[in-house]
Amino acid sequence: MPDAARPPRHVLILGGTTEARRLAATLVPGVAGASEPAGVPEPAEGAEPVPSPEPARRVTTSLAGRVAAPRLPAGEVRIGGFGGPEGLARWLREHAVDALIDATHPFADTISHNAALAAATAHVPLLAVRRPGWVPGPGDDWHQVTSLDEAAAALPALGSRIFLTTGRMGLAHFAHLTDPWFLVRSVDAPEPPHPPRMTTLLDRGPFTLDGERQLLRDHRIDVLVTKDSGAAATAAKLTAAREAGIPVVVVRRPPVPDGVPVAADPDAAVNWLREVFSEADSR
Ligand code: NAP
Repeated sequence: MPDAARPPRHVLILGGTTEARRLAATLVPGVAGASEPAGVPEPAEGAEPVPSPEPARRVTTSLAGRVAAPRLPAGEVRIGGFGGPEGLARWLREHAVDALIDATHPFADTISHNAALAAATAHVPLLAVRRPGWVPGPGDDWHQVTSLDEAAAALPALGSRIFLTTGRMGLAHFAHLTDPWFLVRSVDAPEPPHPPRMTTLLDRGPFTLDGERQLLRDHRIDVLVTKDSGAAATAAKLTAAREAGIPVVVVRRPPVPDGVPVAADPDAAVNWLREVFSEADSR
């Protein structure tokens, strides 16, 4: 049983995703479901309600600070890098963190490796939350690659009007492609280097199927490029591409660091926390 005299358990969530915000909303007492904007899918109807891990709990979410106006989660928020794995380990110790949850984007590879190193150094239990990846279905024309450079190399053979949805940070990988025209969708405006023939669409999901169909038609898109984020909020473009017979270059995810347990969604992360804390209580 939790000890009333003990300070609240401190959970650090490495965030920047819908899952991280949902997790914070679930863990911060009294705000479950309140912090998520309309349009973001909720857990399936009829899903088992997940019991709270403990009543006394402190939840901090860490954001990298890439987005100018981020959607803020419930609970405490800190913004900016830690200064590598050593900086993160120091932060874990100085702020008495009891559990670390890496709920960053599946392609945020550096911070996930930093988290694994820091958690081992500071002896803090670590869990990665990774939503399942997308899988191709009948009618899909997917070209799976392992990097943005490979995606760029595949493009000239596939099309000339490219819908690029891999984010503004990786545009340099496509900057040498001077012939094709790019439609780039990102939350904040891209900065050079980027492809010379490019139109920017500033927007953030969720995106509807009708909207994605219209976009492909209006811009006469003949190839789509995406990372395998697995996000429901951005999956409609894949359906729209399938319907239109458009090839899709899919950048596969980097693996989760060795030895780090993985939960597929925030509910499973809550269950992991309950186990971690009840094990600590029984010691
Ligand atoms: P990254 O390459 O893995 O990380 C680069 C550096 O950014 C890290 O070494 C760390 O700096 C800092 N950092 C990253 N995530 C952080 C966090 N949650 N809190 C504090 N510092 C963080 O990361 P990225 O791909 O640039 O992504 C940055 C953030 O955007 C992530 O939090 C991710 O969840 C979110 N995001 C990424 C993508 C994507 O496609 N990569 C898409 C949507 C959202 P220090 O070494 O100084 O600690």
